[in-house]
Amino acid sequence: MLRVGVNGYGTIGKRVADALAAQPDMEVAGVAKRTPNFEATAAHRAGYAVHAVSDAAPFAEADVPVAGDLDDLVEASDVVVDCTPAGVGARNRELYEAHDTPALYQGGEDADATDASFNARANYEEIARGDAEHVRVVSCNTTGLSRVLTPLEEAYGVEKTRVTLVRRGGDPGQSDRGPINDILPDPVTVPSHHGPDVNTVLPDVDIDTLGVTVPATLMHLHSVNVTLGSEVDADAVRETLADESRVFMVPEHARVAGPGHLKELAKDAGRPRGDLWENCVWEESVAVEGRDLYFFQAIHQESDVVPENVDAIRALVGDADAAESVVRTNRALGVGR
Ligand code: NAD
Repeated sequence: MLRVGVNGYGTIGKRVADALAAQPDMEVAGVAKRTPNFEATAAHRAGYAVHAVSDAAPFAEADVPVAGDLDDLVEASDVVVDCTPAGVGARNRELYEAHDTPALYQGGEDADATDASFNARANYEEIARGDAEHVRVVSCNTTGLSRVLTPLEEAYGVEKTRVTLVRRGGDPGQSDRGPINDILPDPVTVPSHHGPDVNTVLPDVDIDTLGVTVPATLMHLHSVNVTLGSEVDADAVRETLADESRVFMVPEHARVAGPGHLKELAKDAGRPRGDLWENCVWEESVAVEGRDLYFFQAIHQESDVVPENVDAIRALVGDADAAESVVRTNRALGVGR
């Protein structure tokens, strides 16, 4: 059993903790929380040993028993998944190194703050074979792009990729984000950072990206154009993408108009927190003109990186190969069902 500590129990951390608890080969050593808010109470109620990152006294006042401090959690863990806000993870690296504990970080960290970046479909084996101990799971958008570009590259070759990312303004719980009534080129400079981020796991892909931020919270939407290495028809591309266990081909008959319907679909299916771990590609949007492929996909920013974190743990300290790990993770979570 791999004992995994989760530092930071917010949007990503709580989902990662539950995903780890569902794995047959992992257990949650505990979670670390800085603030004794409703999420700390929920962690305690879920049975996780809550560790206080700073002062433990406010946790007692909030009726959240504290099992120890962050040092105790790191010491008790074979690996730590750092799910703290962007930039905090890089500062925590020193602590993990002092305990000689490998760690995963999230997409908000700079790529060069860690030894390597990870996406299960793009570079699992490379991470498993290498000696990286501090590894960043790439962001939600980069995860979504890597999952489709890898099979397209394998099947047809990818000559050039151009993507416009229509980004949600904030997560549903982030009342301090926006815009609330605008459409922002974000960043206004072209290309955006997303393309270079894809290159941290797929260095050979030629990709330009543009970002737009809109008043929405549910999901991101990508408008994707890939110039393929060979001519192919749209049905073949649909089959290639449908073969991917973390791509959901949204069927025409489902009449899914957008992320609002997708989130309803996930909740109706009984998914925890209405999560959509898979890329959602509209089947009828897949179109080919010569070697130019076009499609739309929606990406659930709160959850698509969750199965990737589970696989990254096995790549770092486990003994499964990529295919075994992905099957194990998917089965335990219900990905693809
Ligand atoms: P969040 O704000 O929802 O959660 C962060 C948690 O860490 C909170 O519980 C906060 O109280 C806690 N925290 C703050 N400072 C801390 C500290 N010093 N030590 C321990 N805990 C601390 O953030 P999030 O959305 O879960 O993002 C976490 C990371 O995941 C970031 O790198 C982010 O860029 C990345 N990420 C976020 C999303 C998303 O859409 N939310 C998607 C992919 C990746």
